[in-house]
Amino acid sequence: MQNNLFIITIGLTVAGVFFLLKSLVPVRAIIQKLSAGNVRNRWKLLVSLIFMFILGYILYAFLRTPDSFNSISTLIVPGIFFSGAVFVFLVCSLSLKTALDLQRIYVLEQENITDPLTGLFNRRYLDRRIVEEFQRAMRFEQPFSVFLLDIDHFKNVNDTYGHQIGDMVLKKLGHLIMESVREVDVVIRYGGEEILVILPNTRIDNAFELAERLRKQIEETIIEAADSRKGQPAIHITVSIGVSEYQFSDGWDNAEKVLQRADKALYRAKDQGRNRVFSSEKQDEQC
Ligand code: GH3
Ligand code: MG
Ligand code: MG
Repeated sequence: MQNNLFIITIGLTVAGVFFLLKSLVPVRAIIQKLSAGNVRNRWKLLVSLIFMFILGYILYAFLRTPDSFNSISTLIVPGIFFSGAVFVFLVCSLSLKTALDLQRIYVLEQENITDPLTGLFNRRYLDRRIVEEFQRAMRFEQPFSVFLLDIDHFKNVNDTYGHQIGDMVLKKLGHLIMESVREVDVVIRYGGEEILVILPNTRIDNAFELAERLRKQIEETIIEAADSRKGQPAIHITVSIGVSEYQFSDGWDNAEKVLQRADKALYRAKDQGRNRVFSSEKQDEQC
């Protein structure tokens, strides 16, 4: 009886050590995925604790002798040791699996709202974001503006240099806009070569200034559409922009109306000769 209890105790303790060692595998994977910081340090602390437990288990097993087992109740401690180790292993494995699942969901969500060519947000994101922006503006009585930008005579770029170079121009324009706008602004590929920028907490006059600055910057930029050493073209483009602002008086269908007004202003900018910014509030171009 004593011998049997001794063997079971050693067995449970060794199995416990095995599970504790096994739990270091997911913990290591989690630490590798985390960047330096508080959470990473806490996982490292957990590693130290696991090693302390392992040491404790081994000492416990070494200090036992067969004659210290005189009743079945002596199995309580090794039993707790074993289930504790399984518990640690399950928590660590589940933490890693949950973290990976969340990461996968995040990547899928990002892909779902990102335009693959330019890396900007897509229309799907606009539908969601414009409603959010609209509700925020209503709740806090804050303004927000948008501007809609369209490349002038982009068909000519495609016809002259080919669709692939056209794609590259679009991509570079996307980067240029991202770098020019503020961090809070939201840049969306609205259509083929139309880009919409949502400017939270911004009055139309400021939006107009931002759009005008961007228009000038694009006009002055030479886009290297491919490796210029291979004799590929350096392309010059201009854009037309229509700006509009959310207005409190307009009622609930406002999100759509804001976009419609920006579209009309863009149309006027095209109509008046392109490479210019028009505000939906003014009939004439502001300068
Ligand atoms: P404008 O806007 O000044 O009136 O003239 P446009 O030539 O730019 O005319 P419009 O905006 O109507 O035409 C858009 C063109 O953009 C048509 C299409 O060839 C091109 N385009 C749209 N999407 C893409 C794209 O993803 N890649 C490339 N390379 N071209 C595109
Ligand atoms: Mg165009
Ligand atoms: Mg267009």
